[in-house]
Amino acid sequence: MRFDVLTIFPRMIYAYLDEGILAQALKRGLIEVRVTNIRDHADGPRRTTDDRPYGGGEGMVMKPEPIHRALTSIEKLQGRSMVILLSPQGETFRQSTAWDLADFDQLILICGRYEGIDERIRLACVDRELSIGDYVLTGGELGALVVMDTVSRLIPGVLGGERSTREDTFEDGILKYPHYTRPRVFLDHEVPDVLLSGDHEKIRLWRRVQAIKRTMEKRPELLETARLNEEDERILADLRTGRSQGPV
Ligand code: SAM
Repeated sequence: MRFDVLTIFPRMIYAYLDEGILAQALKRGLIEVRVTNIRDHADGPRRTTDDRPYGGGEGMVMKPEPIHRALTSIEKLQGRSMVILLSPQGETFRQSTAWDLADFDQLILICGRYEGIDERIRLACVDRELSIGDYVLTGGELGALVVMDTVSRLIPGVLGGERSTREDTFEDGILKYPHYTRPRVFLDHEVPDVLLSGDHEKIRLWRRVQAIKRTMEKRPELLETARLNEEDERILADLRTGRSQGPV
């Protein structure tokens, strides 16, 4: 997977990629990230990337020409390539969106600043507009990093070893079960006995009950679209009637 990020603040992107799992994935060649500074494609001695909005009003708008030149400077890989604009007005980025994007070979991410970018870039050059949530950030860089991070961990080998994302929160539409590690007692809270039992079937069932229970408590709306099997449906019915399955 190759990510191309268009930004006027390249160092914000490099800083995040410097450590952690993405840094490892870069080193191992599992992902590739190229950052294009939009300012390098701007005109004039000051390489200005913004201008006043037509029609007046507050704030500045990112000029279209530098973004367009930056876009055309990017080497398009053979295969599936997509241009994404980060924007609070886009469709909400979800785990399912990340799976869709993981099928591409190249994602080109445009980061806006100020009031946003000139509308004609969106109309003429953008395939998909993504928001990372219903709030307004100062720029698209955090959004681009959120997309890169989420998509990268779905690429085989990025998480290392046999680690699978299959049971992660949102994968089947519900939240993941709680985790415990040593010590056995911490701040008066004990590790649930079942996790020390060594009984794999009991542990599996306990985890499934916990996952469904916490989804009911924290994000009940997810259960309306979750992909639940027969056992899950039974657990859910029992939890709803107060008859939980296994040690809860
Ligand atoms: N004036 C715009 C509006 O009201 O819709 C907001 C522009 S925002 C201050 C500047 C840039 O930050 C946007 O162009 C976009 O790239 C990025 N941005 C802000 N919020 C975002 C969000 N929730 N998701 C993704 N990108 C966001």
